[in-house]
Amino acid sequence: MTRQRPPRTASPEIYERIYKMFVAPVSAFDCGAKCAAHNDGVPVCCSTEAAIPIVDKHEWKLLKSRTDLWSEYKAPDKATEKELSDLHHDCVAIECKGFMHCERDNRSMSCRTFPFFPYIDRDGDFLGLSVFWTFEDRCWVQSHLQIVNLRFVDEFVTAYESLFEVDRDEFTANRDHSASMRRVFARFERPIPLIGRDGLLYKVTPRDHKVMRARFAEFGRWGFYEKDAAAAPAKNWTQLDPASLTGLDAPGKAAAD
Ligand code: SF4
Ligand code: SF4
Repeated sequence: MTRQRPPRTASPEIYERIYKMFVAPVSAFDCGAKCAAHNDGVPVCCSTEAAIPIVDKHEWKLLKSRTDLWSEYKAPDKATEKELSDLHHDCVAIECKGFMHCERDNRSMSCRTFPFFPYIDRDGDFLGLSVFWTFEDRCWVQSHLQIVNLRFVDEFVTAYESLFEVDRDEFTANRDHSASMRRVFARFERPIPLIGRDGLLYKVTPRDHKVMRARFAEFGRWGFYEKDAAAAPAKNWTQLDPASLTGLDAPGKAAAD
C-alpha cells in the first residue's frame, strides 16, 4: 500500500473555499478613491505599473475557470521581464482588465489582502498583519491603519491559516518577507506595525524582536498623506483597544463597520 504525500500547495478547491469566506473589505472607506486621486485616477494597487499581481498556479487555474477578467501579464520591457524571471516556478504574473471592470468575487488573493501580508516572527509564529511598506508613500490605508475592520483581520487570518497548512512555500515566502522587513526597519530605526490576530495593535522592535502594545500615532503618515488628519477609526478599535487611539490627532467618530 502506498501512502499519499501531503500536497505542497493549496489546490483550486482550497482557494475556492478561501474566496467564499474571505470577502470583507479592509475598511468602511473607499480607499481606492483616496489613492487614485494621486495616481491619474487609478487605485495604486490596481495598476500593474505599481504592483503586478502574482498568483500560485492553482489559484490561476481557479480564476480561469470562473472568469475572463484576468490574463497572463506581458512584461512591457526587458527590465520587468528580468524582474519576473526570478518568480517561483509555481507562480504566474497576471493582470485584470482594469479597475473599471473589477469583479469583486473574482479578485485574487493579492487583491483581497493588499496592503497587508502575514507577519511571521523568528520562531515561525504567524502573529498577525503587517504592511507592504514600499507602498507607504502612495497607499492611503498605510497612513490610517485605525480604519481596518476586525472582520477583515479575522478573515485574513483564517485564509492564511488554511494556506499555510498545505503550502510550505507560501509560509516560507512570508517568513522571509517578515525577516526582510525587520532588517529594513532596523535600518530605518522604526517600529514595525502589527495588527495582531486578536485584533489589538502591536509594534515589533526590529532589532530585538520584542512585541509590544502600540498606538497608531507611533507609525506616522507618509508620502501624499503626511499632512492628513486622522481618518475615523473602525468601531473595533474604540471597543477592543481604545488605548491604541491615544494621541491620534482629532480622530473622527468611529466609522460604521
Ligand atoms: S489598499 Fe492602498 S493602494 Fe490599494 S486602493 Fe486602498 S489605498 Fe489604494
Ligand atoms: S481585480 Fe479588482 S481589485 Fe484586483 S487588481 Fe483588478 S481592479 Fe484591482
